Amino acid sequence: MNAALALTEIHDRIARACKIARREPAEVSLIAISKTHGPEAIAPLLDAGHRVFGENRVQEAAAKWPDLRERYEGVELHLVGQLQSNKAEDAARLFDCIHSLDRPSLVTALAKAFDKIGRQIPCFVQVDVGEEPQKGGCPVADLPALLAQARDASIPLIGLMCVPPADLEPAPFFAFLDKLARDNGLGSLSMGMSSDFETAIMLGATHVRVGSALFGERAAPPR
Ligand SMILES: *Cc1c(COP(=O)(O)O)cnc(C)c1O
Repeated sequence: MNAALALTEIHDRIARACKIARREPAEVSLIAISKTHGPEAIAPLLDAGHRVFGENRVQEAAAKWPDLRERYEGVELHLVGQLQSNKAEDAARLFDCIHSLDRPSLVTALAKAFDKIGRQIPCFVQVDVGEEPQKGGCPVADLPALLAQARDASIPLIGLMCVPPADLEPAPFFAFLDKLARDNGLGSLSMGMSSDFETAIMLGATHVRVGSALFGERAAPPR
């Protein structure tokens, strides 16, 4: 499918979910997850006026986005994948928002990077709602301490993010993340992907991360 058409379709689906949830579509930011796709696949979405994109790897983003940013104004780039502490400074220079803050060592590394480059980037704390540590995310029991540490370090925290287990109904996890955010005074929720973003919107998502429904299926990762 043509990218501009796919974009219109996703916006329509977001609008329909918002209507059912009695929410305003402007409350939901669509992050187009462009990981694995090259500039030739991304440019049609930029040409169609979309500006908010997400990547899951610092190196891949560094290879693709500086050129695209020269060609298109107003790009907003989100990091949605696990971040190694030694890449914190690269990430802070390249991205406008980080969704994967999930451990004390990364709070320290990001605070240092933000100070060094004089740029404070909004962050979501990723929560391991499904007890799948391999996906990253802070254990639920450790969340209050991590939030306190991040606030002490003056990290601009805006909300919580999760990736629920692939084989389970996502709604209970989205509802749980919403409760955790409310309990901790955080207003934004990064949740919902191609297969479940409408459910996420009905449960309060403010940022949905949609890849394959916009770009088509990704090639299998190299082994
Ligand atoms: C790849 C990815 C997405 C998008 O997944 P789709 O199913 O292709 O929409 C969303 N969030 C994260 C963290 C991802 O890594």
